[in-house]
Amino acid sequence: MSVAEVIGEGVFTEDCSEMVLVKDIEFYSLCEHHMLPFYGRVHVAYIPNGRIIGLSKIPRIVDVFARRLQVQERMTQQIAQALHVALQPKGVGVVADAHHLCMMMRGVQKQNSSALTSCLLGAFQTDSKTRNEFLNFVRSIPPR
Ligand SMILES: [Zn+2]
Repeated sequence: MSVAEVIGEGVFTEDCSEMVLVKDIEFYSLCEHHMLPFYGRVHVAYIPNGRIIGLSKIPRIVDVFARRLQVQERMTQQIAQALHVALQPKGVGVVADAHHLCMMMRGVQKQNSSALTSCLLGAFQTDSKTRNEFLNFVRSIPPR
């Protein structure tokens, strides 16, 4: 499914300007370099600019980009860009935290390390208060 199909009629006009954050979205993906799974959690935030998206749509957008051959860095950016295009919000922040079987099974064999990637757009990039609010919130989420 495409992002447009997933979003469908799920965007609404709403006069809301506070940060919306959906945390702990589980995902499972496949590393395109090694054909091995990577999996973890994504935290997605945005600041509306007159439009909001149905909250249940956000995990479905994550799935659109996770369920293909991927690299974590690109997936993180694609999720952020999709929200940016759909909502033209004041800002978008996406953090992905993932375990990679290619790290756990091959070569280095690190069982407990995870990889953190982020994509910050708009106010999340330009406004340190917004960025810190988001990143502090993400940091407060206990590791699994
Ligand atoms: Zn890999």
